[in-house]
Amino acid sequence: MIVVPLIERKRDGGALTPEEWSALIAEYTAGRVPDYQMSALLMAVCLRGLERHEVAALTDAMLASGQRLSFDGWATPRVDKHSTGGVGDKVSLVLGPLVAACGVAVPMMSGRGLGHTGGTLDKLEAIPGFRTDLSLAEIRAQVMRLGCALIGQTPEIAPADKKLYALRDVTATVEAIPLIAASILSKKLAEGLTGLVLDVKHGSGAFLPRGEQALDLAQTMIALGEDRGCPTVALLTAMDRPLGRACGNALETEEAILALRGEGPADLMEVTYALGVEMLLAAGVEASRPNARKKLESALGSGLAAEKFERVIEAQGGNPKVLEDPSVLPQAQAVEVFTAPRTGVVTGVEPRAIGRGIVAMGGGRLRVEDTVDPTVGFVITVKPGDKVLEGEPIASVFARDEAGVRTAFETLARAVTIADRLTERPLPLVSHRVTQAGAEALTTAPPPGRAPRAAPRA
Ligand code: URA
Repeated sequence: MIVVPLIERKRDGGALTPEEWSALIAEYTAGRVPDYQMSALLMAVCLRGLERHEVAALTDAMLASGQRLSFDGWATPRVDKHSTGGVGDKVSLVLGPLVAACGVAVPMMSGRGLGHTGGTLDKLEAIPGFRTDLSLAEIRAQVMRLGCALIGQTPEIAPADKKLYALRDVTATVEAIPLIAASILSKKLAEGLTGLVLDVKHGSGAFLPRGEQALDLAQTMIALGEDRGCPTVALLTAMDRPLGRACGNALETEEAILALRGEGPADLMEVTYALGVEMLLAAGVEASRPNARKKLESALGSGLAAEKFERVIEAQGGNPKVLEDPSVLPQAQAVEVFTAPRTGVVTGVEPRAIGRGIVAMGGGRLRVEDTVDPTVGFVITVKPGDKVLEGEPIASVFARDEAGVRTAFETLARAVTIADRLTERPLPLVSHRVTQAGAEALTTAPPPGRAPRAAPRA
């Protein structure tokens, strides 16, 4: 295939035909288009965008690169959620088992860390032995038996996204509405879903920080889903500070386990429940928000959700003891406490700086072939709006060595800002619900006050 004219056309603002997208993605997936040409094309897409028909063609081509799960003849509703990416976002690990414990099947296909954001697969793989590369037959059997499988792309499912995602991660080509939309929908449409819930992040730590960009992304994905017969709804949620306290793969897995045991931080639980409510409504197992919320709370409170996670871990080769004893997760060599450099009010915990810090400490990828160190990261116990005293512990850092600790401290010194008073209110945790019909503002109050705090782990 001759790719240069396609790159040139996109570079100059033209459009590719559906046939061209289809051939290009097929050839790239088969290894017959080199990464350097695909990188150039991706950069041209970032700079020039895609026409609506091109986004659809790209999504279809990526979807067609692999097979689709089929649950023909199985009446159980199947709903998944996907996040556009954030820092500290371990919602999938809690939500998959939680919603499955409420009688909805969740075949959840996730990605790895991307740019400054963490990925669900890397978090799951922090669990010793956990396999995310199940075959189609294994996924189908596990979803029908347990109601949940937590998986990644394989040569069978959405292989084009697997390759493109890894390439975008290291070529500064993540931040584009059409690429994010096609990446997410190609995975989700392969899952044989009856409904899809999207968590579209906005704020400084999101790939698309501005609210209007997030809305545009949400509407692009909703149109792709609905046009392909998958009812799709989105919530716009805050990513102007990390979600929860833990940031870093094993640390986030541990926090997700705590959440399933009823000890999750308030902001993580709020976002998890909001998305869970949408999933139960989409599945039709509850008809009202309050009832859906009660069902989720009771599945969590009764231990059913934690038990579901334990069974999923066991089924996928992981060590199920992690539920009872998270210390089976890999542990960092160097752990230090970071204290507030001054008295005042926390005005920001900048997620992008935290995410980049984790990558610099070895917890993310700088090149396609890099492996991640699951142990490194932060547990940050303050949120914007909290009052702190000079010398008070506000975070723990988890690093490979002394150099990692220094990087972590420099990161926190930049990321956590303290002043005399709060100048900008944090974004509401869950601000809008978006459907094909439009966007509805929700009234969840922002949490500017001091959240209940746990002592930093050290
Ligand atoms: N999540 C995905 O799966 N793909 C993207 O491009 C961004 C977030």
